[in-house]
Amino acid sequence: MTTSIRGAVLTEIGATRPYRDSAPLEIRVLDLADPRTDEILVRIEAAGICHSDLSVVDGNRVRPIPMLLGHEAAGIVEQVGARAAQDGFSVGDRVVMAFLPRCGECDGCRTGGVMPCVPGTAANGAGELMSGGSRLRFAGDGTGVFHHLGVSGFATHAVVDRRSAVVVGADVPPEVAAVLGCAVLTGGGAVVNAGAAKDGDDIAIVGLGGVGMAALLTAASLGYGRVIGIDGVRSKLDRARELGADEVYTPEEAADAGIRVPLVVEAAGHPRAFETAFAL
Ligand SMILES: [Zn+2]
Ligand SMILES: [Zn+2]
Repeated sequence: MTTSIRGAVLTEIGATRPYRDSAPLEIRVLDLADPRTDEILVRIEAAGICHSDLSVVDGNRVRPIPMLLGHEAAGIVEQVGARAAQDGFSVGDRVVMAFLPRCGECDGCRTGGVMPCVPGTAANGAGELMSGGSRLRFAGDGTGVFHHLGVSGFATHAVVDRRSAVVVGADVPPEVAAVLGCAVLTGGGAVVNAGAAKDGDDIAIVGLGGVGMAALLTAASLGYGRVIGIDGVRSKLDRARELGADEVYTPEEAADAGIRVPLVVEAAGHPRAFETAFAL
């Protein structure tokens, strides 16, 4: 059996800009195969657009095409494979997707989260699910379509591996649950895992986009030391205040004030932001 779905499929890498005109993503009708034993069928409720999606569109991260994009999504479980049911998934659960599945048994997984999962990374690189192959085909000509990081969330439905989904409470709104899958775990994970923040630590966040704000929210929720937001855009500093920053500065103000902290998260990915962060 298959489910007829619609999804945004990337059919060309490195199309001419602006993409508004060249439209490298097409909304297509696809046949989605039923979930295998390790998999679940999810009706997508919300999906976020991430810079990593753009990196596939512009060829910065080379992936096989045609690929149904989207790796930050949440939805409701509609079918459950037998092994996935043993893992605790039930029809009606709200799930958030994880873009790097973990087998829990390989050398990478044995590093306690430091290194990525070996078979999970291989499946992502091949555009397949953990159990191998794709569940996606174009309706009509039957051409196979690749999965994006095991999620392919820019669609009405997705089949994902049980190791690519986490159940969240029904009270978590889907648009909030969706961003837990990439932006929040990237920014929040930097504070909790890479930064290993501990009580008393002042934490500075440089670059207050989606990832930076997620780091800031996480730092504020920990309640350890001062939470300091740094960005060149005044409106972002105001927003950071609303979200719990104790102090906010432009990069110049931070330098003038002689701000020094033990933990700095650089969330802009820009050389100037890195220089600002390094100086703190
Ligand atoms: Zn992302
Ligand atoms: Zn693994």
